[in-house]
Amino acid sequence: RREYNIVVLGAGGVGKSCLTAQFVQNVWIESYDPTIEDSYRKVVDVDGKSTVLEILDTAGTEQFTSMRGFLLVYSITSLSSFNELAPIRDAILRIKEVDEVPMVICGNKSDLEGDRQVSKNRANHISKKWGNVPLYESSAKKRLHVDDAFMNLTRQMIRMMGAT
Ligand code: GDP
Ligand code: MG
Repeated sequence: RREYNIVVLGAGGVGKSCLTAQFVQNVWIESYDPTIEDSYRKVVDVDGKSTVLEILDTAGTEQFTSMRGFLLVYSITSLSSFNELAPIRDAILRIKEVDEVPMVICGNKSDLEGDRQVSKNRANHISKKWGNVPLYESSAKKRLHVDDAFMNLTRQMIRMMGAT
């Protein structure tokens, strides 16, 4: 079976662990130990082909090995978490061994519209500037666009790294 590695990166508290738990286990976990860094396996079907995803939910440690897909998460309620994405992307591109890096941006906590600090326009601008990196406004809590984000990333990895 083909296997791909995904790394979930972003500022503390944006919902990386909650997104990962929703995608892998279909559960909403209100409170996750912010220091826990762990990897999870999920088998998904992509166009009838069984595909293994190994997902690393990071907790501050940088994991920038190339040949991985990167889910860059910010919270729509935190401008500072949004601003942290550019340096993360720079660090990824510095170590990359390939021209194109599979990447998706997730503006999480979209259910908290009343607390929004990052407009959709502002996020779209970054997405375009970075070469149309797919952007989703997700909610781990409501399970909105969780699968879309991970599956878009998976399809990019299959496309760029080949269906091994
Ligand atoms: P991490 O540090 O990036 O792994 O963040 P966590 O996944 O631990 O989530 C941090 C906090 O944000 C927790 O209190 C979660 O309950 C909350 N949270 C995560 N995702 C969402 C979301 O989509 N909506 C809302 N309202 N809260 C969220
Ligand atoms: Mg976490």
